[in-house]
Amino acid sequence: MVKTGRGVLFDQRRTGSQLIALIGLAFVAGVGTAAAQNLVITNARILDGTGKVIERGAIVVRDGKIASVAPGNPAAVPGARVINARGMTVMPGFIDAHRHPIQGNTAEWLQKDAADQMRGFLEAGFTTVLSAITPEEGLELRKRTESGLIKGPRIVAASLIPLARAPGGGRGNVGGRGAAPLSVPGAQGAAPAAPPAGRGDPARFDTSRPPLRPTEPAGAIPAEDTIKAVDAAARAGFDYIKTVMTITPGGPEIETLRLIVNEGKKHNLPTITHAVTVMDTLAAVDAGTGVLVHTPHIGRLDEDPAAVQKIVRAGIPMTSTLAIFIPHFSPDNVPLFRDRLPFPWNTISSAGQGPVNARLLWEAGISYGYGTDTSWPPKESLRDELRALTLVFSPKDIVTILTKNAARSTLKQDQLGTLEPGKLADIVIINGDPLNNIYDVLNVVTTVKGGVVLSDKTAPAATRKR
Ligand SMILES: [Zn+2]
Repeated sequence: MVKTGRGVLFDQRRTGSQLIALIGLAFVAGVGTAAAQNLVITNARILDGTGKVIERGAIVVRDGKIASVAPGNPAAVPGARVINARGMTVMPGFIDAHRHPIQGNTAEWLQKDAADQMRGFLEAGFTTVLSAITPEEGLELRKRTESGLIKGPRIVAASLIPLARAPGGGRGNVGGRGAAPLSVPGAQGAAPAAPPAGRGDPARFDTSRPPLRPTEPAGAIPAEDTIKAVDAAARAGFDYIKTVMTITPGGPEIETLRLIVNEGKKHNLPTITHAVTVMDTLAAVDAGTGVLVHTPHIGRLDEDPAAVQKIVRAGIPMTSTLAIFIPHFSPDNVPLFRDRLPFPWNTISSAGQGPVNARLLWEAGISYGYGTDTSWPPKESLRDELRALTLVFSPKDIVTILTKNAARSTLKQDQLGTLEPGKLADIVIINGDPLNNIYDVLNVVTTVKGGVVLSDKTAPAATRKR
């Protein structure tokens, strides 16, 4: 039974067609309530994500979408909520194009942790998050954030499909269920070494670099199994297929990835690929993946200009995840990895090679977008990623990386990533000027998703109805 203010809506006396019509109306009304509040943000310094700056302008939002972005004051919009952003900066909502939001048992996480953690994304300014490996039951998170049951960013979710068999005749995880919580080479099933069960960060056991780099070909997965896995991911309603490229000598990885990419296209299901070395990135490019979800942190692109050209000319967006291999420090000065365990010094070359490779690819014209590959609190992740990005990128570059290019890394650039008429009204209001000090993006006061204010720390005086 569904009740309205006027009583029971679903009445046994109604005919089937009446019922369907009523259900339709109820659906439209429900969506309308969540998204229809028109909004005007005035007196803002606007960084629209395309590189353009409006020193004092206004954004009008109608029906969840951006209606106009222009200097000066707009004509009155009857019934709209007005936010006076005087002295503040307005930007497109931030996008983390590589996260692992769901940790541990999915059902438990959804019940206990999801609401708090999703609020953390909104408070940090994130309006879209790509969940890079999602168990099928994790699609419930996307559903709940879409319906408004959980206030959170838009979730787009990938299902993992392996490129090769595990050594010793074992099978990879074909269906994408029970996926590893982090995107690691071990998840491919071709890893010679695996992290201790449930402990530590799998990036510590990085099979992409010696001495763990595979020296034997991995076994092939039958094409029919891969085709079935793509079909299953499409039927489950995933947004992407995630793959992990660690090429083995003479192994089947490129061929399998090609098959996944082509099968995915039949279902309108793009493929995204983990590759953390120059060699594996080139293999993923050869196979025609849709998105490279890491910088090649391993290998020197300064010594391989042909590789730079090949990667960039493929026109595949790349996601940063640049902070992973740069040490963090505890209050008592212990160098830490992203799992807060001691820093693995065998990965330290990546602290230099990652940023250098990123800048070389940028100079050659790649679309380089923000992503962290963390499960840490979003604001903390943002601060860490900024620390890495600022080594080789200007504040202006980083604004593009965090917005327009991150949208490209989700393949949703038609709807997201810039403040332009027709796009979804995903907007953040920031205290400060990120073009002067990029760390000001940590000072988010208001987050709007699809025209709905979901997080707001503005003083009451700054918000009024008119
Ligand atoms: Zn990952």
